[in-house]
Amino acid sequence: MRRIKQLDNHLVNQIAAGEVIERPASIVKELLENSLDADADQISVYLEAGGSKSIRVIDNGHGISEADLALAITSHATSKISNLYELEHVTSMGFRGEALASIAAVSQMQILSRTPESDNAYQITNQKTITAAAHPIGTTIWVRDLFFNIPARKRFLKTEKSEFSQCQEWFRRIAISRPEVSFALHHNNKLVTRFAAGASNYEASRLAYVFGPAAKEHTTFIDEVRAGVRLWGWVGHPNLAQSQANKQFFYVNGRFIKDRLVAHAVKQAYRDTLYGQRQPVFLLHIELAPEQVDVNAHPAKQEVRFHQGRLVHDFIYSTLHHALAKPQSQAQLVNHS
Ligand code: ADP
Ligand code: MG
Repeated sequence: MRRIKQLDNHLVNQIAAGEVIERPASIVKELLENSLDADADQISVYLEAGGSKSIRVIDNGHGISEADLALAITSHATSKISNLYELEHVTSMGFRGEALASIAAVSQMQILSRTPESDNAYQITNQKTITAAAHPIGTTIWVRDLFFNIPARKRFLKTEKSEFSQCQEWFRRIAISRPEVSFALHHNNKLVTRFAAGASNYEASRLAYVFGPAAKEHTTFIDEVRAGVRLWGWVGHPNLAQSQANKQFFYVNGRFIKDRLVAHAVKQAYRDTLYGQRQPVFLLHIELAPEQVDVNAHPAKQEVRFHQGRLVHDFIYSTLHHALAKPQSQAQLVNHS
């Protein structure tokens, strides 16, 4: 007879890690979110071999104290929430306390960090030994040899190019949401993208990336509030539509999401102006009270549940529909004058 056994902790972590860490891009996302939660305003990412060989994220945030380093890589340990009320009102990107533990279970990880209160920096590795280190205020998390201990997962990684482009996609999604933070992305020792902080830099670089160099001409800026829900951002005009759906940025309380309800509302709004399979381009933020939205629905957290789904859907639809009806006629007036 087959007996039931309790799995050992290490194996439990490796299995659980699979939910959060699918590929290098998942690590890039988790580490960038942690840097933002630490209030960093300068974040650099260094990747090697599409991230499968090495991912290093360096930030100037508030750091991790020596006393907390071991807990940081323990599962279900977080500084971000401590009770159900805080879970339901969460405003940070993270709250599960799973990412670093998961990453540590499937890679060679090293954390170097220094808090503003401390004169020294400290480092910790997978083995949980803590030693003194040299590091400015902030944190470096270095992840090497992803899935070295899980060959079956490693085999599922795609080509370097494909893994890199997925890392880059998450880098952009997060960078585009935070104008006040400067971001840099390096791959194989080459600088790939640098986004400087500040509003004018934002227009020149991040908005231009999404909508092209003439972003202002081809977008309508919206900023509306209905029943405590704010919808703001840039609606790309139909002439920007493309065959791929890779320039669609939608954030809920600063979190990049891909959500069916939102996708449906947006699609309906563009329906009269887009033909066939053309994909619209947009960069939109919804802001609402944290208790009005459940971001706890999925570990990868790309789907959310709105408590007033119908209201949010109709609000997105009608605002975009209205915005799209206007620029068309304005554009025609300009063309005819
Ligand atoms: P979560 O983000 O859900 O809390 P993580 O496993 O991602 O869980 O991180 C665990 C803890 O480690 C965080 O709660 C935070 O206190 C600390 N931490 C992680 N990354 C950083 C960072 N870059 N700067 C400061 N603290 C960090
Ligand atoms: Mg986190």
